[in-house]
Amino acid sequence: MIRNIRLYPEFNSKGEESLRVKIQTEKGVYSASVPSGTSRGSHEAVELPVEKVLRFFSKVRPHFIGRNENELDIIDGLLIELDGTGNFSKLGENLSLGISIAAARAATDNHLWKLTGNRLVATFPIPVANVIGGGMHGGGTEWQEFLVIPYKAQSPLEAVQMILDIWKHIGSDLGKKGLLMGRNIENAWMSRMNDLKTLDYLSGIAEDWDVKIGVDFAASSMWNSRVYDYERWGVKLKSSEHMEIVKEAVREYGIYYVEDPVHENAFRQCALITRDIGKESVVVGDDLYTTNPKRVKKGIRYKSTNAVLVKPNQIGTLTQTHDVVVMAKKAGLFIVPSHRSGETYDNWLADLAVAWDAPLIKAGTTGADAPKLNRLIELWEEIPSVRMAKLPKGRL
Ligand code: PGA
Ligand code: ZN
Repeated sequence: MIRNIRLYPEFNSKGEESLRVKIQTEKGVYSASVPSGTSRGSHEAVELPVEKVLRFFSKVRPHFIGRNENELDIIDGLLIELDGTGNFSKLGENLSLGISIAAARAATDNHLWKLTGNRLVATFPIPVANVIGGGMHGGGTEWQEFLVIPYKAQSPLEAVQMILDIWKHIGSDLGKKGLLMGRNIENAWMSRMNDLKTLDYLSGIAEDWDVKIGVDFAASSMWNSRVYDYERWGVKLKSSEHMEIVKEAVREYGIYYVEDPVHENAFRQCALITRDIGKESVVVGDDLYTTNPKRVKKGIRYKSTNAVLVKPNQIGTLTQTHDVVVMAKKAGLFIVPSHRSGETYDNWLADLAVAWDAPLIKAGTTGADAPKLNRLIELWEEIPSVRMAKLPKGRL
C-alpha cells in the first residue's frame, strides 16, 4: 500500500531543474526521476516547470495514498483521469511518469526488469551510442546524431567498452587533426566536419572497429513547414531533394540505423523512404510517433517505419508506453527504448529495455548516460540466464 509520496527537485545533465518522485510503501521507499528533451517532438506530452508541479502536487497526492502499488494500470489510469487533458498539460508528464515509474519500482521491489514477468532467458539490448553530434544538440553538422552500434559484442560490458573506446579515439583523433570543437549536450563530439565528411569519417571507424553506424536526422528541426532549411550548408531543400540526399547517404555509407529521416508529420514520405531502404536498414520513428499509440497506429497503417523509438516521457505513463511496445511488436516493428538529451542519473531505461525484450537501446556514452549502461552490465551479472539480442535485420 502506498503510504506516502514526496517530490524533490533535482538537476539534470543540462543543469536544468527536474523532478524525483519517492513513493513509500510498507516494504520501503522507491524513487524515480524523469529526463527532459531538447529536440522535442511537437506531439509529445507536456513537461511542466518543477515549481508549477510542486504547487499542484498537494491536490494530486491524496488520490494515491492508500492505493495498491501493484495495480499499476489503476495508478496510471488515475493519473490520466486527474489530468484530463490527454497530454498531461495539467499535471505535467514529468510528474505522471515519475509517479508511474516509482510505483512500478515499488511493485517489483526495485527489480524493474521483472515488470513484464519473469522469463527463462533475459535478452539484452545492443546499445546505440551518439559519438558525433550536431543539429539542436550543438555541433558542426546539420543532422543531429551520428551513432555507433557494437553489434558483435558478446555482453553489455564488451559493448560499452567498445563504445567508450571508439568515443575516446574519435575525440583524440579529431583533436590531433584540428577538427575538434568540443562536446555537445549529449557528450557527443562537435567537429568542424560537415555531415557527409562526418559520415565518411564514421564509415572508416565502422570498418576499423566492426560496428554498424546510424544517423538521427531529427529532420523536424530542419523543416520550416515548406522546405528543409540546411542552415550550415546554406541551402534550402524541397522535401523530395532532402529525401534523395538521405537515401543517397544511407546507400553510400551503409547507414544501418536511420532515425527521423523526414519531419514529424511526414508519415507518407517516411513510408517511401522505408520502402526504398527498409530491407537493409532499420528506419526508426521518434518525433514521428512521440511514443503515442495513436501515432504509432497511423505509422503501422502507412508502413512509415520498421521501428519505433520508445521514450516514456513523451507519453507520460508506463502503461501507455507499454501499449506502444505491444502494438509495435504485434505489427512486426522493432522497439528502441531511448534516453533524452537532458538526462538524470536514474537508470530505469536499462531495466525497461530488458523487460520489453528490446533488441536495441539508445543510451549515449558518458555522464548521465553511464548509469543506464552500467545497469545493463549489472543486470547481466545478476540475472541467471542471459543473452545478447540479435541485431534486427531491416524489414519491409
Ligand atoms: P531530445 O531528442 O533532445 O529531445 O532528447 C534526442 C533525439 O532526437 O533522439
Ligand atoms: Zn531522435
